[in-house]
Amino acid sequence: MWDEVYNSVCWNVRDGMNTDFWYDTWIASVGPLAQYFIGVGDPAPCNVASMACPTGQWDFARMSVLLPESILYRISAIRPPHPLLGNDAPSWRWMDNQNFSSKVTYDRVAREGDWIHHTDWKVIWKMVVPQRIRMFLWLAKSEKLLTNKERVRRHLIASPCCPICFPAEESVLHVLRDCVVAGNTWRKLVRPGKLVEFMALPFNEWLVRNLRGRGGFAIDVAGWGVLFPTICWTLWKSRCKQVMEPDSGVVSEPLLVGHPLAAAYVASAAVDAKVGGFQVPVRRWCKPRARWVKANADGASCIRSKKAAAGCVIRDEAGSWLFGFTRSIRVCSSLLAEVWAVHNLLLHAWNRGFWCVELETDNMEVVEILNSTSAALLENSLVNDLREFLARDWNVVFWHISREQNKVADALAALGRNGPIGVALYEHPPASINRILVDDSCDMSTACAGG
Ligand SMILES: [Zn+2]
Repeated sequence: MWDEVYNSVCWNVRDGMNTDFWYDTWIASVGPLAQYFIGVGDPAPCNVASMACPTGQWDFARMSVLLPESILYRISAIRPPHPLLGNDAPSWRWMDNQNFSSKVTYDRVAREGDWIHHTDWKVIWKMVVPQRIRMFLWLAKSEKLLTNKERVRRHLIASPCCPICFPAEESVLHVLRDCVVAGNTWRKLVRPGKLVEFMALPFNEWLVRNLRGRGGFAIDVAGWGVLFPTICWTLWKSRCKQVMEPDSGVVSEPLLVGHPLAAAYVASAAVDAKVGGFQVPVRRWCKPRARWVKANADGASCIRSKKAAAGCVIRDEAGSWLFGFTRSIRVCSSLLAEVWAVHNLLLHAWNRGFWCVELETDNMEVVEILNSTSAALLENSLVNDLREFLARDWNVVFWHISREQNKVADALAALGRNGPIGVALYEHPPASINRILVDDSCDMSTACAGG
């Protein structure tokens, strides 16, 4: 039984330390690489991390004498391991194949049990709070927030202590409940008779019971579904502000910030609930609203040539080209190419200081991944990054569009398929897509709805 389970596991490479390069499956469509070894006898076990250069790239020079070119192309579509990406994580092998079905995935995950705490995950994405708070809750629940405890684990700092309650360790639970600041806040919101129990529950139970509105802790039962996550988020934001700007003086009282915020979220709940999966009804590219940029991403994999690439463009409110790039990925599924596209696009947008981004893709599955309503590629480190990007302090809205509206990104992806592996940056539009750009700008007399 265990063998059957193990054979259907694909390892998502992150730090590459605990995945065997030859004998574990870490490229879903290929299986263990030992079967493709072109040397004599059986290859010696070694971890995936040992096949990356110190520069962070794959060591293709070394691998090229061990494996055929067709396999190297598949490896080039996998993000190289890096120590800061965390532990390698398992997912089901069939999750990565090209006939991917989110329903099948969901049913399998639901049936097979606790690989991910899918019911808790459902509770989080159904919460009537802005997307950035859902992302925050997801990170909190996975204990991936960069607390001092986590920063020590990643060798970023030396002491795991809370700067306020030294020498107490600063874990996620500490920031959200046990810290002096948090304790003072919760005492005003939790029924006095329930406070001892509230403060004593283990982290996961504490979080999930409150998110589900169970346990009878709240003085204000009706508003708890919004107030509890909002206060948690406010506590985290206030803690981050203190770490980033220790000299900024007065720290805002989380309750004074959190209460009005929660009220505002309830008032705009109907609007917020639509952001994310919003479908733009028109069939042409539209400029973003004032002071926002529009980012279009497309990833594509050619069935015949098997080459995959991502193409992305960022334009301003006048429709002018700000920046574009292509990324040639070689052999992977269309879905993974789309994830590469959105990942790289958000990364560039953040690095270039665009703080208000309207992101568009013509791949619904990617929108669902961004919304955390699809379990596709759940343990892939790129998807992990996407959650982290969305939880940052900037404005990103995203929605699904038709292919006609995504022509420039589509043309860039096609261009990337014929380029060498890696990224090609375009500070100015490549000549071959000028025509499509002009078409888009002729059509864009008005801004679209969608935000
Ligand atoms: Zn503390």
